[in-house]
Amino acid sequence: MLLCCLAARTEAVYVKYKDPKQPLGARVKDLMSRMTLAEKIGQMVQIERTVATPDAMKKYFIGSVLSGGGSVPAPEASAEAWVNLVNEIQKESLSTRLGIPMIYGIDAVHGHNNVYKATIFPHNVGLGVTRDPQLIKKIGDATALEVRATGIPYVFAPCIAVCRDPRWGRCYESYSEDPKIVQAMTEIIPGLQGDIPANSRKGVPFVAGKQKVAACAKHFVGDGGTTKGIDENNTVINGNGLFSIHMPAYANSISKGVATVMISYSSWNGKKMHANGDLVSGFLKGKLKFKGFVISDWQGIDRITSPPHANYSYSVQAGVSAGIDMIMVPYDFTVFIDELTNQVKNNIIPMSRIDDAVKRILRVKFVMGLFENPLADLSLVSQLGNKEHRELAREAVRKSLVLLKNGKSADKPLLPLPKKTLKILVAGSHADNLGYQCGGWTIEWQGRSGNELTIGTTILNALKNTVDPTTQVVYSENPDAGFVQSNKFSVAIVVVGEPSYAEMYGDSFNLTIPEPGPSTINNVCGAVKCVVVVISGRPVVIQPYLAKIDALVAAWLPGTEGQGVADLLFGDYGFTGKLARTWFKTVDQLPMNIGDSHYDPLFPFGFGLTTKATNT
Ligand code: BGC
Repeated sequence: MLLCCLAARTEAVYVKYKDPKQPLGARVKDLMSRMTLAEKIGQMVQIERTVATPDAMKKYFIGSVLSGGGSVPAPEASAEAWVNLVNEIQKESLSTRLGIPMIYGIDAVHGHNNVYKATIFPHNVGLGVTRDPQLIKKIGDATALEVRATGIPYVFAPCIAVCRDPRWGRCYESYSEDPKIVQAMTEIIPGLQGDIPANSRKGVPFVAGKQKVAACAKHFVGDGGTTKGIDENNTVINGNGLFSIHMPAYANSISKGVATVMISYSSWNGKKMHANGDLVSGFLKGKLKFKGFVISDWQGIDRITSPPHANYSYSVQAGVSAGIDMIMVPYDFTVFIDELTNQVKNNIIPMSRIDDAVKRILRVKFVMGLFENPLADLSLVSQLGNKEHRELAREAVRKSLVLLKNGKSADKPLLPLPKKTLKILVAGSHADNLGYQCGGWTIEWQGRSGNELTIGTTILNALKNTVDPTTQVVYSENPDAGFVQSNKFSVAIVVVGEPSYAEMYGDSFNLTIPEPGPSTINNVCGAVKCVVVVISGRPVVIQPYLAKIDALVAAWLPGTEGQGVADLLFGDYGFTGKLARTWFKTVDQLPMNIGDSHYDPLFPFGFGLTTKATNT
C-alpha cells in the first residue's frame, strides 16, 4: 500500500519543462536549470548515425544525429525502415535522466533525395529560373511531408548561396547569381516549416507541427563567392559586396522563422567563417536577431586550421567562441566533448556561451513539439513519392527549362515538335539516364549514374509516352554519322551534359561537356535537324556547337520527372523559363555576372525564348 502510494506521488510531481502550456522561455529556463555541464555539452553535439549507438546516445547525452551525404540505412530501405531507425535512436535519448529528445537531420536538398521512391525535384539552379516563389513554397511543403514520412524532423536546406562563378561544383545548389532571386526563393522556408504567425517575435524559429520540418539556411555566408569558384575557398569582396550580394537572403530567412543556419567552410577575406565571431555572433545573432541555432558544417571546425585538425584545441575554442551552437563532429565526438569540457572548466570558454548554445537548441526542439511528439508513427509513409508531389515536380521541370535557340532563323521555329512524326532519333549519354537527370545529392552524395537508383521517368521514356503511337522513336546512345545519314530521320533529340557530382568534386576550370557528348552533337546535328537538351548543373561551353544546333534547351538537373521535358518539346505546354544565370561564351570570361563591366555573354541573364502550347 505504502509503496504504491509513494510511486503515485512521484509520478504526480509537476515538471515545468514538460508542460506544453508553459511559455517557451519558461520551459527552456526550467530545463536548463536541471542540466549538468555534460548534459549541456551533449546537446551541442551532432554525430553521424553510424556511430549513434545506444551507449553513445545515453552516455554523452547526444543532442542530434545526422545522415550525411552517403546516406544510411541503405537508400533502398523503405520509409518504414527509416522511421524505425530514427525511433530506435530517439528511444535511447528519451531514456536519459531528463529525456531530452535528439533531433535527426538530413540533406533533403531537392526533395527527400536520400530515399528510394521519393520525389526528386529539380535542383535549385533550375528552380531559380521559375521565379515562382509560390511553386517553391509548395515544393518545400511536399519535401517536408516526404521527409516526415521517414520519421525525420530536420533538413539541411535550403542552400541560399548566391553562386557568382559557375566553375564552383555547388553552383547547382544555388538558385541564381542574382541575390534578389535567391531572396525570393527563401519562400521554401515557410513551405518546409509552415507559415510564421503574424505576431511572431523577430528571429524566433517557427515549425508548425508534425508534418513540417526544421529548415537550415546555408552556408553562412559568402559560399558562392569564392575565388575561381573553388569550393570551400576564400571569398574576396568588400563589406558592401558581402552585404549586398551574399547576406540579404539570410535576413529573409530569419524573417520567415528559419530554425537553423549552417556555417560555410569558406573564408571571407582570409578569415574562416567557422571562426568569424563578428559575423556569426555579432551580425547574425546580434543585428539580425536570429534566435534559432547555428550549426557547423561537417567537420567544419576541424577545417578552421590548415591542414584540418592541425590544432584541435584552437579549433574548438575558435568555433564555439564565434557562436556556433551545434557542432557536426561527426565521428570523433568524444575528443570534441573532452576538449570543450576542459575549456569550460578552465574558463577558456565562458559558461554563458554554452548556455546560449543550449538555450537555442532547446528552443528549437520545444518549438517543434519534439518533447510532446518525439517518436514518429507510420501514418505518413504512403506520402513518399506520391502522385501529387510527382505532378508538382513535373510542373517545376516545365517552368525551369530555358529555350536558348529555336530554329536557324526566327521565322522557322523547330519547337514545338509535332507528336505525329515519321521517325525521331533520340541520342546522347543523358537521354536514358535517371541518375544524370537527378545529379549529385541523389541517393548518394555524388549521385549515381543509371536507371536503377530510384523510381522516375527518363527523358527517353517521357518522349515515348508523349508521341503519337504511329511515330517511330529510335534510340541510339552515341550514333556515328553514317548511322544517322543512312536512316533519314525527320528530327533528332540529343540529350547530353555533365555527369553527376557534388561539392569540390564538381569544381571545373573548363566547363566542357565531356565526351561522348560533343561527338554525339557533331555526328547527329550535322546530318539531321536537331534539338539539343543540355543536362547540367550550370552553363557549360556550348558556343563551338551552336551553329550546328537547330534548337537548344537548358534543362539543368530536372530530377525524376523527365515527363516535364517532353511536355515542352511536344507543345503540351509552352516554354516560359528565363535564365537566372549568365551563359558565358568562353571560360576565360569568368566570373561574369549581370552588371559587370565586361559583360559579354552568349545568352544574357533573363534570356529565354517562349513557345505556345499547341497540342492542348
Ligand atoms: C555540406 C553541407 C551538408 C553537410 C551534411 C557538408 O559536406 O557542405 O551542405 O549539409 O555536409 O551532409
